[in-house]
Amino acid sequence: MASATGVVVVGAGPVGLTLAIELARRDVDCRIVDRRGEPRPGTRGCSVWQRTLETFDLMGLPMADFRSRAVAYRRRVYHPFGEPELAVELGEDEGPYPLPVLIGQQETERALTGRLRELGVEVERGLRAVGVEQDAEGVLLTLQREDGTREEARADWVVSAEGAHSVLRDALGIRWHTTRFEGTQLVQVDAVAHGLPGDGPGEAHLYLTEDGFLGDLPLPGGRRRLFAAVADPDPGNRLDPSVHEVEAYVRKLSGRPDVRLESPLHNWRVRLHNSVAEKFRQGRCLLVGDAARTVMPVTAQGMNTGIQDAFNLGWKLAAVVSGAPDALLDTYSAERLPVAHDLIARTERSFWGGVGTPPTAEAVAAGVRKQQRARSDQAVGYRDGELSRQYAERAGLRAGDRAPQAPLTGRDGAMTTLYDELRSGDWVAVATTPLTGLPPGVRGAQPAEAPGPETAGPYALAPGESLLIRPDGYIGCRSGPGQEEPYSRYLEEVLGG
Ligand SMILES: Cc1cc2nc3c(=O)[nH]c(=O)nc-3n(C[C@H](O)[C@H](O)[C@H](O)COP(=O)(O)OP(=O)(O)OC[C@H]3O[C@@H](n4cnc5c(N)ncnc54)[C@H](O)[C@@H]3O)c2cc1C
Repeated sequence: MASATGVVVVGAGPVGLTLAIELARRDVDCRIVDRRGEPRPGTRGCSVWQRTLETFDLMGLPMADFRSRAVAYRRRVYHPFGEPELAVELGEDEGPYPLPVLIGQQETERALTGRLRELGVEVERGLRAVGVEQDAEGVLLTLQREDGTREEARADWVVSAEGAHSVLRDALGIRWHTTRFEGTQLVQVDAVAHGLPGDGPGEAHLYLTEDGFLGDLPLPGGRRRLFAAVADPDPGNRLDPSVHEVEAYVRKLSGRPDVRLESPLHNWRVRLHNSVAEKFRQGRCLLVGDAARTVMPVTAQGMNTGIQDAFNLGWKLAAVVSGAPDALLDTYSAERLPVAHDLIARTERSFWGGVGTPPTAEAVAAGVRKQQRARSDQAVGYRDGELSRQYAERAGLRAGDRAPQAPLTGRDGAMTTLYDELRSGDWVAVATTPLTGLPPGVRGAQPAEAPGPETAGPYALAPGESLLIRPDGYIGCRSGPGQEEPYSRYLEEVLGG
């Protein structure tokens, strides 16, 4: 099958846009299509966690501008079953973005679309993927325009970023396992709220009562996101809730009968489920984001995890398009499928929607403290993965760990940082003395100034040690003093000779 395009990304939600940016940054010939004539409105995924901010920075998004449009998300105050409040500070003590932010998903998509445009790629709108066939040589994608006419697009690779209802996943026959939370529903609105506790800046309130769960988050512009997970009196009711219906739940679950909601936007009613695909790759077709796994919105992590999927896949797919062995793509599923399973297990353990036996206040307290670091996604790593090679037992960072931002000494002794180097899209090899014979696509750097924990921070290496950092900011390999250039062998195996 002759091919015309390197990669077609189907779906221009936050995840498809991220993937297209990662491909375009590396000059991969790619198209991105979306069935909608216009971007979807609505605040949906409004919590953007720390690792996602780091990722946006590495992708070259204008971070100061993006954050100026958002609310800095400082703390969550839990009100568990009438027990004393429990406040959890959201700041992480490490990394360039200690605080997550709250911002409507449409704004996040706008920022991603702007970055993609800067790289010379426009979303092709009004094109719906309706069929897919593949053989060893390529993929044939059928696209349908809004007027019903069809076009056939040939590509080397196709990625479905279509969201939960993926036509391509079904056409490929990839199994989709769903767990439903029968008997519960989520009703939600963004509104100006009167009569809820005075909020400190960036403060969310989460109420757990025997009748269910209520979340109250601040959004930019003065509205609050109010969402209630409660027993579902009428599973057949598909209509979005009126603001009065949500208001009644807010009053009941917050215990404040005087609450008033005004200026409502984006009223939603959803039935809750978690779903995951049995695999994320079939031949030349891949799944990312909600098309690969959908988690219920109360976790506030679906978009964030999807962006991490795309960031993991982007450099790998670009490398394969340029000739790396296609087994590299299997490491995408191997690394990201367990993250999806963990997230789903975590939400299933902690979810309370007013049906069954409520958790105890003590269990809630233990759970919220443990969950916070997991939510930031900074703790995600791939230590046991095939791409993680620890050649020497050393203290500190290990192969598979997230590589923290830190100052480094770059080419010609100039001061730089890890993120400045990674923004090129390349790998970064850090060693105390300049490494020789690095192949194209790998930048050499040294710890900042003289090696030592005070100056070099996490990159305080002993003479002769080296760290090779992947383009997505995870450590690929760590070698010890006197070892023969294991990074060269590693790169040869991963990227091909
Ligand atoms: C009410 C609500 C609140 C949420 N809150 C949060 C939160 O706080 N934090 C968080 O991280 N997540 C949250 N989420 C989840 C988040 O919105 C999703 O995880 C996220 O949108 C998934 O992104 P995606 O790009 O994978 O898919 P989508 O955003 O679903 O994008 C898919 C795109 O593909 C297009 N498309 C679909 N099929 C085709 C086709 N066949 N051909 C062409 N185009 C196609 C669609 O038009 C769409 O633009 C929330 C979701 C909801 C509904």
